[in-house]
Amino acid sequence: MFPVERQNRIRELIAKHQNMKISDLSEILDVSEMTIHRDIKPLIDEGYVTKTFGGITLKYAPAPPVASEDHCIVCHKTINEKLAYRIILSGSKTETACCAHCGLIRHHQLNDEAVQALCYDFLCQTTISSSLATYVMDTSINIGCCQPQILTFNLKEHAEKFVKGFGGSIYTFEEALEKNIKMQGKHCPHSNSSS
Ligand SMILES: [Zn+2]
Ligand SMILES: [Zn+2]
Repeated sequence: MFPVERQNRIRELIAKHQNMKISDLSEILDVSEMTIHRDIKPLIDEGYVTKTFGGITLKYAPAPPVASEDHCIVCHKTINEKLAYRIILSGSKTETACCAHCGLIRHHQLNDEAVQALCYDFLCQTTISSSLATYVMDTSINIGCCQPQILTFNLKEHAEKFVKGFGGSIYTFEEALEKNIKMQGKHCPHSNSSS
């Protein structure tokens, strides 16, 4: 067996068992413990496993199964919880958008059907009601989600400080909603999305 094959085998074993002893690996793979130590070195270096006393342990738990809610209702991007915009509909149904950009598009589409919407404060990560949030657009910071970017803040004061440092303009919920829809009109990849 080549070292690479052994390493793949070790990956499989550690993914299954979470923890493995060096002595057990050496027995299973029928090589010396010295060889196992050499084999696991790259796995440790890349952060796949960490070394424990006499063994190794899996560093990253396998990713949880993807629920439909993990994808943006508008653009189907995987949702990053820190940026998520959640719309609560009547009958306690919820819809989740990847960021305030998509959230506001969907919110506009739903109009009166949306009972409430929640988003996160960009600085503190606290949950805020989107209708009370302060919105920042055209900032220089790249949040890595949809363009044009929209950031949400709990306090207007924080938004103002943020804009001083990173640029951008401040909007209320209604203003942001309107501006976002207008911007969509220009280049319009989202407007044909169905629910
Ligand atoms: Zn989206
Ligand atoms: Zn987005």
